[in-house]
Amino acid sequence: MTHDVHIIGGGLAGSEAAWQLARRGFKVRLSEMRGSGESTAAHQTDGLAELVCSNSFRSDDDTKNAVGLMHHEMRRLDSIVMRAGAQAQVPAGSAMAVDRDVFSAAVERELLGHPGITVVREKVEALPESGPTIVATGPLTAASLAQNIAKATGQDSLAFFDAIAPIVHRDSIDMDKCWIQSRWDKTTEASNVGGDYINCPMTKEQYYAFHQGLMDGEKTEFREWEQDTPYFDGCMPIEVMAARGVETLRYGPMKGVGLDDPRTACEEFPQGRWPYAVVQLRQDNKLGTLWNMVGFQTKLKYGAQVELFRTIPGLENAEFARLGGLHRNTFLNAPMVLDRQLRLKDAPHIRFAGQITGCEGYVESATVGLMAGLMAAAELSGEPWVAPPRSTAMGALLSHITGDAEAATYQPMNVNFGLFPPLHDVKKKQRKEAYTSRAKMEFGEWLAEREGVPA
Ligand SMILES: Cc1cc2nc3c(=O)[nH]c(=O)nc-3n(C[C@H](O)[C@H](O)[C@H](O)COP(=O)(O)OP(=O)(O)OC[C@H]3O[C@@H](n4cnc5c(N)ncnc54)[C@H](O)[C@@H]3O)c2cc1C
Repeated sequence: MTHDVHIIGGGLAGSEAAWQLARRGFKVRLSEMRGSGESTAAHQTDGLAELVCSNSFRSDDDTKNAVGLMHHEMRRLDSIVMRAGAQAQVPAGSAMAVDRDVFSAAVERELLGHPGITVVREKVEALPESGPTIVATGPLTAASLAQNIAKATGQDSLAFFDAIAPIVHRDSIDMDKCWIQSRWDKTTEASNVGGDYINCPMTKEQYYAFHQGLMDGEKTEFREWEQDTPYFDGCMPIEVMAARGVETLRYGPMKGVGLDDPRTACEEFPQGRWPYAVVQLRQDNKLGTLWNMVGFQTKLKYGAQVELFRTIPGLENAEFARLGGLHRNTFLNAPMVLDRQLRLKDAPHIRFAGQITGCEGYVESATVGLMAGLMAAAELSGEPWVAPPRSTAMGALLSHITGDAEAATYQPMNVNFGLFPPLHDVKKKQRKEAYTSRAKMEFGEWLAEREGVPA
C-alpha cells in the first residue's frame, strides 16, 4: 500500500483530515471526483475545499460566540481551513469571510505541495473493504457511493434530506405559560421531569392568527435541483400542511387532545382542560438544554420564522439554536451507526467526517474532518484517543454527533452553546463569556497534554 489512509472527498472535511494526517507524518491518498469529469449539483469548480454557497465562516468572535470559539480551537491545531482562510480573508465586520477562489486555491496549493498527500481525481463507487479510510463526501455524496453506504449502514440510517424543525434553548422558554406533560400521560421511563413534552397552549383566536401567519409568511423557494423533492409523510413542511385547511394542523402536530393545561383547572376539570391547539417541544439532547418544536419543519424564511414562532405562548423570548429548514442533504444517523471515534460500528476501518456525519456548516464540517484526522493519526500511532472535553466547541459537537443527540430525531446541527454542559450558576448575561473562557482553558489543557503545545 502506498498510503496509510484513504480519504474520499476533497471538500472542507477531507482536505482538513488530509492536512492533519500529513502534518503528523502519515501518507494520504485523497480521492476527489471533481476534476475527473464528475461534479455535484452545487459545486462550480474542480477546486478542493470549494465553498458552495456563502463565502462566510460566520462569527470570528471567540469571546461570545460558539463558532468563533471553534475558529480559535481550529487555529490552535493549525487547521488548513483557518490557515487558508487567513490568506483569503475579505472585510466582513466581526465575521470571517473569504474570497472563495483564493481560499480554495490556497488549500489546494498547501495540500498538493505536501509530500505526504497524493490527490487523485477519481470517483469512489463503494466503501473500501479494508484499510483505514475516511469518508468525507459531504451532503451531495455521489449516488453510487450513497447507495453503497446505505447498504452498509441500513437504509434507515442514511437520510437524503434534512427536514429540520426549529430547536429552542430551554432556558429561553417561559414556563409560566407552558407545562410539561406527555399526551395521555404516556411518559417514557427516561423522563425525570414528569413528562416528555413542553406544551405551549393556544386559544382559538391565537391558533387562527398563527395559521394566517403561516399562510402569509415569506417562504424560501426550492432550488431547481430540489424541486422534485418528494415530501415524506414525516417531514412535510408545516405551511404545506396548513395550506390544506385551517383545521389540518389541529388534527396533526398541533392537536390538543389528551393534554390537560393545569392553569385551566377548575372544579369540573380538576386536572385542567385540553387547549384548543398546542405547540409541543421535545427534548433534543441528553443535557436537556435544547428542545425541538415537534412537526415544525418549514421552508419559511428565517426572519419570518422568528417573528411567527415568537407569537406562540411561552416562546415570546425564544432563542433558537437553529431554525427550521428542508434541504437536500445526505447524512448518517451518526449517534446510531458511529462509535465515539466516528468509526462505523460494523466496519471500524471506515471513519466518517464532515457534513455526512450530521454536523452542519463549513466550519463544523472542517472541524469534524480535523477530528477524524487526529483520531486516525492516534490509531495508526497506537496511541489512545482522548477527545477534547465536552466543554470545548470541538468536544461539544463531537459528543453530540457521536451519541449525545437523540438518534430517533437526529437532524443536522450547527455548533452552539446549547451543546455545552450548562453553566446554570452563571448569570444569563455573562454566560457566553463564561462558556468561552471555560472552553479555552480546558482546550488549552487538553492540547498541552496531547500535543505538548503550551496551554
Ligand atoms: C447547496 C448547499 C449550500 C450550502 N451552503 C452553506 C453555507 O452557505 N454556509 C455553510 O456554512 N454551509 C453550507 N452548506 C453546508 C455545508 O457546510 C457544506 O456543504 C460543506 O461544504 C460540507 O463540507 P464537507 O467536506 O462535508 O462536504 P463537501 O465540501 O461537499 O465535500 C465533499 C466532497 O466529496 C466529493 N465527492 C462526493 N462523492 C464522491 C465520491 N463518490 N468519490 C469522490 N469524491 C466524492 C465532492 O465532489 C466534494 O468535493 C451548504 C450545503 C449545500 C448542499
